[in-house]
Amino acid sequence: MAMASLTMTSTSVAVVPAMRRGDARHRAGRRRAMGDATATATATATVRCGGGCRRGGVREAISPSIDEDAGTSLDDDDAMSGGGGGSVSSSSVAMSRGGVGATTLAQRAKQRAAGLRKPSAFGVVPDACARVDFAVIGSGIAGLSYALDAAEVGDVAIITKASAFEASTSYAQGGISAVVDKLDSVDEHVRDTCIAGGYLCDERAVRVMVEDSRAAVETLIERGTRFTRRESDGALHLAREGGHSRHRIVHADDMTGKEIERALLEAARAHPRITFYEHHFAMELLKTRDGESPRCTGALVVDEASGTTTAFVASSTVLACGGAGHLFPSTTNPVVSTGDGVAMAMRVGATVANMEFMQFHPTALFTGPGGATKLEANENAFLITEAVRGHGGQLYNALGERFMSRYDAREELAPRDIVARSIDSEMKRTKSNCVFLDITHVSADEIRANFPGVAAELAKRGLDMTTERIPVVPAAHYMCGGVSTNENGETSLRGLFACGEVAYTGVHGANRLASNSLLEGVVFARRAVASVTDEINALRAELPALDVDEDELRRWLDKECLALTRACATSSAFVTKDDAWERDMRAEIQRTMWNAAGIVRTTVEMEDALRKLQTLSRACEDRAAVCSGYTMGTAEISNLIVVGRLMLRCALMRKESRGLHYTLDYPEPVDDEKKPSFIVEDVAADASQRAPAAPR
Ligand SMILES: Cc1cc2nc3c(=O)[nH]c(=O)nc-3n(C[C@H](O)[C@H](O)[C@H](O)COP(=O)(O)OP(=O)(O)OC[C@H]3O[C@@H](n4cnc5c(N)ncnc54)[C@H](O)[C@@H]3O)c2cc1C
Repeated sequence: MAMASLTMTSTSVAVVPAMRRGDARHRAGRRRAMGDATATATATATVRCGGGCRRGGVREAISPSIDEDAGTSLDDDDAMSGGGGGSVSSSSVAMSRGGVGATTLAQRAKQRAAGLRKPSAFGVVPDACARVDFAVIGSGIAGLSYALDAAEVGDVAIITKASAFEASTSYAQGGISAVVDKLDSVDEHVRDTCIAGGYLCDERAVRVMVEDSRAAVETLIERGTRFTRRESDGALHLAREGGHSRHRIVHADDMTGKEIERALLEAARAHPRITFYEHHFAMELLKTRDGESPRCTGALVVDEASGTTTAFVASSTVLACGGAGHLFPSTTNPVVSTGDGVAMAMRVGATVANMEFMQFHPTALFTGPGGATKLEANENAFLITEAVRGHGGQLYNALGERFMSRYDAREELAPRDIVARSIDSEMKRTKSNCVFLDITHVSADEIRANFPGVAAELAKRGLDMTTERIPVVPAAHYMCGGVSTNENGETSLRGLFACGEVAYTGVHGANRLASNSLLEGVVFARRAVASVTDEINALRAELPALDVDEDELRRWLDKECLALTRACATSSAFVTKDDAWERDMRAEIQRTMWNAAGIVRTTVEMEDALRKLQTLSRACEDRAAVCSGYTMGTAEISNLIVVGRLMLRCALMRKESRGLHYTLDYPEPVDDEKKPSFIVEDVAADASQRAPAAPR
């Protein structure tokens, strides 16, 4: 059966209308937000840059020699081979809003395994269908903030691929930036953000975020977050981090994310209109056939325990899937950060932007040869919070020299990209595996009081930070680019929203200012709900009624929605354990990305890496075919490949060095290049029905 093809065949250039959206009010609103930019696209994949901080206008088309078919062309017939049989009878349907009938699903899984269920026009017969108002993919700060607000408007399904707590949010240490001190100002926070961002930030979006920062912190407090307060007067204790000209970091000791996640999870679990689907993997977004107004209609989700698939048809679908740190061998991100959100969005033709800007945290604990003790074989790099440098921590190279003054007048308080590059340079210069962070000149009591979490973690490894230097290296930490949205979290595809790290809102530019990401997650999630509230009735009305019978929902999916490209998850063993192929494949991707798209880049290496990822993509498809479908491991790997290629393509398009993107071929910033990079992939045969490149 022919799948919705993302395979690119032609490179002709076509002009498409600036916006294709269903209702006129929405169109007008979006046009306002976009500044009426006319979008232009190639028929394959287009990298675009808006002028300055605005979006729109073609910058450069990707080389025709690069085949853009990452992980998409698995044929359902192969995967579902063996036998006829029609769809399952209505009497066996047990799916309802917010609940999946387990017996029925088991029966369906058996039928699928026995080849009794064959692909429909929709691509595959999902084991179950559910009609929900809000499908939120991800349970970090962005997903939970969105869900808690959205639950005031309708029923919410939170779909999350691990236990709900497992998210980057839970690992955030430093804090959340906000203008709460009376000596501070919105203007100063905006200025610091834009300076850190290499003047590539969308200043309007930054201002929106900063103006809402106090309210964001208040909301987190209302939802039960206990931030650290001053003993003297009970006011919020404010820390200072690199790149901030003021003390403005609201925090909960040095375990801010853990406390925020605890509070939001408790609030969400207690909410009667929120249902959690933990250990459920979002495989693919659902989309209507490209007509006059294509839209996202939900997500295909796999229950990891049973391998059964559920099509969640949603009035509003929200990507809150976090970042993609696992593209690199050393990362502070938890295992869930595999770029699934960006890859899924790309496959339905939503616009992605600024993927070249991957932030490497300068100071992750080094556990390689000569470093600190490793606690687990595949542990994520433990982050030594920037606040240690903010508190006077000094960096020394392997020769015992303090070096930051050679690179930047702000020394250890310079923005992350500068500190990371300086460390990289010192490691290369001294041929050593790491550098050292030293805070031993501060009193032991003060260190323990300010960094209880870091001190305890290091103590577990036999390292006393009050008397010893800490071995550190840069590690992949934060994805500044992502699925392009406007200030209301809307992507270029109607019905699809994105917030948090998966989104590109324009606030981080070429480099994220410390502690701005938790803030971005709350502010834009809340704005996304506020904006969808106006539209929810229209979005609902385009889909079957919320209490629709499941058979009718299946018929609707068959008739209205695009065939899914990877609906063929295996019914059993969706989650594999310690699979050698998956382990080696991941290691190969990570090696390729670190060598070519790490802290210092070159054109030749990036071009080679792009070809290498193309080969790995084919290997991944072969693997999925051999295994009669995607396992969670193959799905994540193919997503990593898609995201890796996007990073390389954006990086290759940028003929300058700016912020986190540093290339030896263009080592200086270039004014003409000071614009974001946009990529849109065409999933429609007809160029005129393509989503716009520039969603503002
Ligand atoms: C160690 C560390 C320290 C940090 N410190 C700070 C800090 O001090 N201040 C700051 O502002 N920022 C900090 N950051 C960055 C910040 O924590 C993250 O950017 C932010 O928490 C991202 O939130 P999120 O909700 O967008 O994504 P996450 O919190 O990463 O949540 C993503 C969610 O999506 C789910 N998911 C992903 N893919 C799928 C799929 N296919 N199907 C179903 N579910 C899926 C995941 O399971 C997870 O629940 C830090 C990050 C790390 C790793």
